[in-house]
Amino acid sequence: MSRAFAPHALVPAEVLEQMAATPEGLSSDEAARRLAAHGPNRAPEMQGRGAILRFLGHFHNVLIYVLIGSAMVTAALRHWVDTGVIMAVVLVNAVIGFLQEGRAERAMDAIREMLAPHATALRDGQRKSLDAADLVPGDIVLIEAGDRVPADLRLTDGRGLRAEEAILTGESVPVHKGPEAVEAEAALGDRSCMLFSGTLVVSGTGRGVVVATGRATEIGQISDMLTRVQTLTTPLLQQMDVFARWLTVFILLIAASLLVYGYFVGHMPFADLFMAVVGLSVAAIPEGLPAVLTITLAVGVQAMARRNAIVRRLPAIETLGAVSVICTDKTGTLTRNEMMAATLAAPGHVFSVSGEGYAPEGGLRHGDTDRPVEDHGTLEAFARAAALCNDARLRRVEGGWHVVGDPMEGALVALAGKITEDPGQPFAGWSRTDTIPFDAAHRYMAVLHHDHEGHAAIHVKGAPEAVLSMCRAQRGLDGGTEPLDQAHWHAMVERLAAQGERVIAIAMRSVPQDHTILNAADLEGTLTLIGLIGLIDPPRPEAIKAVAECHAAGIDVKMITGDHAATARAIAETIGLTNCREVLTGADIAAMSDSALAEAAVGVDVFARTSPADKLRLVDALQSRGLTVAMTGDGVNDAPALKRADAGIAMGRKGSAAAKEAADLVLADDNFASIAAAVREGRTVFDNIKKVISWTLPTSFGEAATVVVALFAGLALPVTAVQILWINLVTAATLGLALAFEPSEPGTMRHPPRPRSAPLLTGGLVWHIVLVSALFLSAGFGVFFYALDRGYPLPLAQTIAMNTLVVLELFHLFFIRNIHGTSLTWAAVRGTPVIWACIVVVVAAQAAITYLAPLQEIFGTQAVPPRDGLLIVVIGMVFFALIETEKQMRLAFRSPPAGIKT
Ligand code: ADP
Ligand code: MG
Repeated sequence: MSRAFAPHALVPAEVLEQMAATPEGLSSDEAARRLAAHGPNRAPEMQGRGAILRFLGHFHNVLIYVLIGSAMVTAALRHWVDTGVIMAVVLVNAVIGFLQEGRAERAMDAIREMLAPHATALRDGQRKSLDAADLVPGDIVLIEAGDRVPADLRLTDGRGLRAEEAILTGESVPVHKGPEAVEAEAALGDRSCMLFSGTLVVSGTGRGVVVATGRATEIGQISDMLTRVQTLTTPLLQQMDVFARWLTVFILLIAASLLVYGYFVGHMPFADLFMAVVGLSVAAIPEGLPAVLTITLAVGVQAMARRNAIVRRLPAIETLGAVSVICTDKTGTLTRNEMMAATLAAPGHVFSVSGEGYAPEGGLRHGDTDRPVEDHGTLEAFARAAALCNDARLRRVEGGWHVVGDPMEGALVALAGKITEDPGQPFAGWSRTDTIPFDAAHRYMAVLHHDHEGHAAIHVKGAPEAVLSMCRAQRGLDGGTEPLDQAHWHAMVERLAAQGERVIAIAMRSVPQDHTILNAADLEGTLTLIGLIGLIDPPRPEAIKAVAECHAAGIDVKMITGDHAATARAIAETIGLTNCREVLTGADIAAMSDSALAEAAVGVDVFARTSPADKLRLVDALQSRGLTVAMTGDGVNDAPALKRADAGIAMGRKGSAAAKEAADLVLADDNFASIAAAVREGRTVFDNIKKVISWTLPTSFGEAATVVVALFAGLALPVTAVQILWINLVTAATLGLALAFEPSEPGTMRHPPRPRSAPLLTGGLVWHIVLVSALFLSAGFGVFFYALDRGYPLPLAQTIAMNTLVVLELFHLFFIRNIHGTSLTWAAVRGTPVIWACIVVVVAAQAAITYLAPLQEIFGTQAVPPRDGLLIVVIGMVFFALIETEKQMRLAFRSPPAGIKT
């Protein structure tokens, strides 16, 4: 497409002709041909760093510099074995870091893939939801409020359209859009008949023909608007990163002091002293910690994605684990959003509807009797309003019927089919002239239709309060009008809603044929009510379980719905919310001051007839009470509440692009159970981060302490420097990483949420570090002196001490796996495949260094007699028994027994 082509200056018909397109859309074959010619509709990918550069990046690290420096010193001293071992440590470190980073990046790529944008287009004359990447020039795209425009579009139709084009024009005030052509010279911001790729539709509906895709779009031509890369980190991890860096500096200072002290005060030979100090630094510096924490995060992101919760912003993982109240939508989240019209209430008659799913087949009966329905005029009026005031379609699929569009509207199409016994397109003779689309703010939808015989009519459906207030009369049984009986209808609404039915009212009015434009003013006080329709939407069984799980985890669940109070209450009861008696409506909320709302919101669990603005105030109210709030949303107007909430959650299926972009988390299945699963995974990630730290720091410090004490006391080293390097080499890639893959502990969702401000380095952790370091130190020296005492040569004593340290690490790992309960259960001992793979590797490596002659040569080890091998394992068991008992003492004091809510 040459740029001289100026679609904004042409009328729609000309643009269609130029694009070789029709208002019915392209055929699939033609679209496939164009896709091959133009390429996918995607922004050019951000060029990632090459693999070699990324690999080299892992050498940029203080510890590696220290090690490389040490290797040069040992080489100068001609201690080739030491040089070799140090270089091996350097290499293995870089390789592990590289592989882990690759893993983490693949996890993030998969997530990006899952969030790929969709577009609604006409293909083969049918509405289809496509991957935005599959759009081609000439496609007809349907757009509505909340959409991110998927390609450059020339509008052919528009109603109340406004778009926010800040990313293109820098102008953050939304601009009006409509199909009228503008001058060819108009600046981008003035091309009001164009919707540009990447901009946001903030209101209205419309359709347009694609004139440019991918790189050819206006946004695609701005080269620096490339996809942002998200770094795999969270505030907590950044904090750990900084901590690890300062710890490194601290350890290096200690190492330098030791070097000076040992040389000038202890008069030790420089080469030995230097190696000991290097070994000490390598043992103590938690060089692998940041990388392992990143992996922990990546594993958590993947686990959440498997449970249909897609993390958009990584810090949300931490927040999710701390959530103390979840505010959720009702329709589709707690309920299945599989609707069926069950009750029709006309003046003087109540009909019940039978049938299965969305099949437009089934019967109608008079109330509870089996009397067949004779009054065809009334039902015909219901069917016509249901079919015309509707944007959904039913498609027959294998094993049933499928809705394209809104499920509630799908149910109304099915209802019209049941009444007219015409499952195809009843009322096809009427064609739509204008629409006022449904909006959660006014809660109704209106349409204007004309037929060939010169009739014109407005049909409205919506929330009963909204529709009744626009009615002047009701449709009588004889087809005439009679005065509106407000009291009767309100009672009827309450009656249907109390059964958990979603109630909508339908109304109509005939208009002169020359009436072609529909305005809100045409509806006020002029309509004739046809009746009420009650729709059932069964609760999701898994949501009931998930709500119970949240309650057990000390998390409050609140339902926030646009639906009627009585409907909301009935559903809340079946779902099992705590307080279903009190319901606050949007009107109640509007009448409250912020402080009164904060007071009330904590105790109430059901909020009905709320608007998006109410959601925002609720988030503020709950947060002001110190709660960590998760809030769901789907519409464009929900974006502010989602941004404000601690964890904003958007619906992946029915959610608008605006809501998804504002959210931290997107639910692939719109299901409440996925929120609970995400919270569980969030807690698990936090636990695992804590476990990785609680394992790494004491283990490192315990080993380092052994060297420090020996140097200061002028004793022989219980473990030689190369042996310490070896231990680091073997365990860093295995044990250090294993905890990142830990599954949720059984107790994860049985304790109250952690406070948001809870620090990672708690007093408990510091105590654990001190205790375990001391035990490592005592065990290392103890077994070493025992061996010397038995008259073993020094190398054998050192081999025994080294193996003891490794065995302690293993037992420490098993201990750390369970921080919420005892480690002495069968499930805890059985472990996971990852754990056992690590153990096998470590044991094999230790056996090799202890018993293989060439390795004995290099590392100065000697074969350990079986009796002493047994002793080492016993020492490990004693160590385990000690720390486990100490944990049980702490657990007994920490919290009241499970089941008591604090
Ligand atoms: P929910 O919290 O259940 O998703 P909504 O905000 O979607 O609530 O809807 C609120 C009310 O608006 C519904 O109870 C219904 O009466 C009415 N409503 C919902 N969708 C439509 C629609 N497509 N057309 C007309 N009225 C609707
Ligand atoms: Mg809704």
